[in-house]
Amino acid sequence: MATVAFHTLGCKVNHYETEAIWQLFKDSGYERTDFEHTSDVYVINTCTVTNTGDKKSRQVIRRAIRQNPDAVICVTGCYAQTSPAEIMAIPGVDIVVGTMDRKKMLDYIEQYKVERQPINAVGNIMKNRVYEELDVPSFTDRHRASLKIQEGCNNFCTFCIIPWARGLMRSRDPKEVVRQAQQLVDAGYLEIVLTGIHTGGYGEDLKDYNLAQLLRDIETQVKGLKRLRISSIEASQLTDEVIDVLRDSNIVVRHLHIPLQSGSNTVLKRMRRKYTMEFFAERLERLREALPQFSLTSDVIVGFPGESEEEFMETYDFIREHKFSELHVFPYSKRTGTPAARMEDQIDENIKNERVHRLITLNDQLAKEYASLFENEVLEVIPEGPYNDQPESGLYEGYTDNYLKVVFPATDEMVGKLVRVKITKVGYPYCEGQFVRVMDDLETDIETTAVV
Ligand code: SF4
Repeated sequence: MATVAFHTLGCKVNHYETEAIWQLFKDSGYERTDFEHTSDVYVINTCTVTNTGDKKSRQVIRRAIRQNPDAVICVTGCYAQTSPAEIMAIPGVDIVVGTMDRKKMLDYIEQYKVERQPINAVGNIMKNRVYEELDVPSFTDRHRASLKIQEGCNNFCTFCIIPWARGLMRSRDPKEVVRQAQQLVDAGYLEIVLTGIHTGGYGEDLKDYNLAQLLRDIETQVKGLKRLRISSIEASQLTDEVIDVLRDSNIVVRHLHIPLQSGSNTVLKRMRRKYTMEFFAERLERLREALPQFSLTSDVIVGFPGESEEEFMETYDFIREHKFSELHVFPYSKRTGTPAARMEDQIDENIKNERVHRLITLNDQLAKEYASLFENEVLEVIPEGPYNDQPESGLYEGYTDNYLKVVFPATDEMVGKLVRVKITKVGYPYCEGQFVRVMDDLETDIETTAVV
């Protein structure tokens, strides 16, 4: 039996797509092997979000070629889409497929085996207006399922290369989303995370259909789903209708990841972001009315070109005042090919690092404050595996619906199930808990609230 090995760089969407590509190989009779083993085919799913993403992608490609010089080396993903020539120039690369036409990958491999000529199959992504439907019935080694609902982004923020790698917004057919969700629940997943390149933009290219409707349709049509999470949603996409759905839903979790990037209007303008801080604050207020104590996580870029100390402090104060519960802090890093990389007033690395540290310290403080709201409460956790991958500890880790990471004594049988856990010690990055009981498959949130 022919073998295939995968290596995935970058974000959740890439990981999702590797599973989809694996399905295509599986259906053609391939066996999956470890990337460190000798394989007949290597698929490297690359990332280009930063210049480092490109470099790491090239290193992994070279590693695969060294591993088995006779293997078919197939490179796909965002870096493949934006820079096919750079990848084709690496001796030993046989096939380059970008972020579309993945379904043809197997045909290219057959073609390559006959002709022994390198194939560059990367086309113009900007002309693509159709979502490429790929089936993902399950995930290797995971208990939280992702479900991709859209592709591409129309925003063109000045620091971001992604629209050039992924093209413009294309939403997945809602019927297919519901079908995929049911398939995942039937495979045993209790939680689904809706993902995409610009997830909250779902529906912007559809007529008479939007994200709020999709959330409602999933809730009413998918049987057995316990948790539905949106991986990321912009403030501008939090319409009153979406907020109403969040308030009324029994499965959409009380956790939202809303990228902030900066808390200063002048920086946001240079970033070409589509909201002001006043607008962001107003949406948060509406959300807090609808979902008291919801968890608010976010991404922040520190040291964007021209960021003054005052502008940085506007960000810092906004985050503190609005009680974010977790931040992913990124020092701005020049991405070649973007307008921001050409801006004057690039910020000194030392200043960037110092600002990053200030925000990380604030993050620790806010994360603990948020967790402390739940001390001694009984919450539902889905254990994902042994704490720190050490089964002998007897401790397992998992997330609550509001995204607290909880470590507690459990057993292997509980992994992937909904378990009630009492939070005994709050902390960050994790809280400690005490097992209460495993929830019955038929219990609904309303019934269990009544039990406790
Ligand atoms: S919204 Fe901005 S940062 Fe996000 S993918 Fe689109 S262009 Fe990039």
